Amino acid sequence: MREQPGIKQFGRIVRLPTPTGYDFGDINSYAILPEPGSDELVLIDTGVGREVCWQALETGLAQFGFAIKDITLLLLTHGHTDHFGQSARIKQVSGCEVWGHEAIKASVHRYLPTADQIAREKVFFHGLGLSDAMYDKAYKYRKHMHKVYKPCELDRELSDGDIISIKGFELETIHTPGHCPEEVVFWQAETQQMFSGDHLLTNITPVCLLHVPESPEDERIHALTEYYQSTDKVIPYDAKYVYPSHGDVIYDHLELIAGYKLSTERRLLKISRILEKKGALSPLAVAQQLFPKVWESQLYAVMSEVMGHLDMLADGGYADITERGGVLHYASLSVPEPGAAFGVVSLDH
Ligand SMILES: [Zn+2]
Repeated sequence: MREQPGIKQFGRIVRLPTPTGYDFGDINSYAILPEPGSDELVLIDTGVGREVCWQALETGLAQFGFAIKDITLLLLTHGHTDHFGQSARIKQVSGCEVWGHEAIKASVHRYLPTADQIAREKVFFHGLGLSDAMYDKAYKYRKHMHKVYKPCELDRELSDGDIISIKGFELETIHTPGHCPEEVVFWQAETQQMFSGDHLLTNITPVCLLHVPESPEDERIHALTEYYQSTDKVIPYDAKYVYPSHGDVIYDHLELIAGYKLSTERRLLKISRILEKKGALSPLAVAQQLFPKVWESQLYAVMSEVMGHLDMLADGGYADITERGGVLHYASLSVPEPGAAFGVVSLDH
C-alpha cells in the first residue's frame, strides 16, 4: 500500500482523505472553506458510499468547525464510485446543490447497468476476444456496487469553460475526458491552483477506461487518444499547485505529463513488437502477451489499457484491423519510431 497523505489545509482548501477499500488507498475530497461572513461550504468529490467514509469525512470537517450538513455545494470531478458514491446521502443531509459534467450518466450506467446494457457489453467484448465467463469476471466488481455507489441527480450539468462562482474563489471548469468521458478539472486562476480529479495523479498513471458504446451504431471513444488531447488542454495552465484525487500535491504537472507520454510511447513500442512477432492478434491475445500475470484478475483495466494503445497504433497507421469470426484482429504495419506518437518528449522545460 502506498503512503497516504493525511488531512491538510492549504489556505482555504482542506484535503480530506477517506478510505476506498481499493488497492490504491484513499480518495482525497477537498473542501473549500467559506470566506469570512459567508456560509458557502464547497466540497469536491464525496468518497465511497460506506459508513466508514461518512465518518471520516465528518471527523475531518469537524477539525475545521464544520459538519457535512453545512455543505452548500458539491462539485464532482467525475462519476466513479470513490468520487460520487456518497453523494445521495450528502445531498439528503445538507440540502446542497450537486454539480458535475453532463456525461456523468456514462459512469452511472457502467456501475449500475440495465439488462439491455449487459447484453450490449457482452456482444462488444466478444468482439475483442472475451468469452462469456471472462466477461463475467471482468465485471465481477459490480456485484456489490449498489452497496457503495449511491449517486444522485445533478442539479446543474457542467460544460467545458463553465465558471463556478464561489465568493473569492471562482473556479473554471475544464472538460478533460480520457480517464472517463465526464472527467473535469477545476482551475482557480488567482491562486494558480488546480483540482485534477483522476486526470493527473501522483505515483499512478490514470487508466483510460474502455467505454462500451451506448448503441452498436455509436462510434467507440478512443479513450487514450482523448486523454492526451485533454492533457494538451491543461498544459498551458500555469498551475503552482495541483490537487489530485489520489496522492499528494503535484508541483509540476508538465513534468508529470511528459512522464506519462514516455511510458505510453514505451508501451506502444512493446505492443507493436508483439504484433510484429506474432502476426495478427485479438485484443485479448495482446492483453495475455502484455500482462501475462494480471490479465485475468484485472481484465477490465487491462482491456482498457490494451484497446487505448491499439487505437493509437491503428489511428497512427501502424496497425491494420481485420475481423475474423466476429473478433477484431490487429496486425502490425510498421513499428513507430521513438517520438512518433507525441513528437520528442522532453522532461526538461
Ligand atoms: Zn476515477
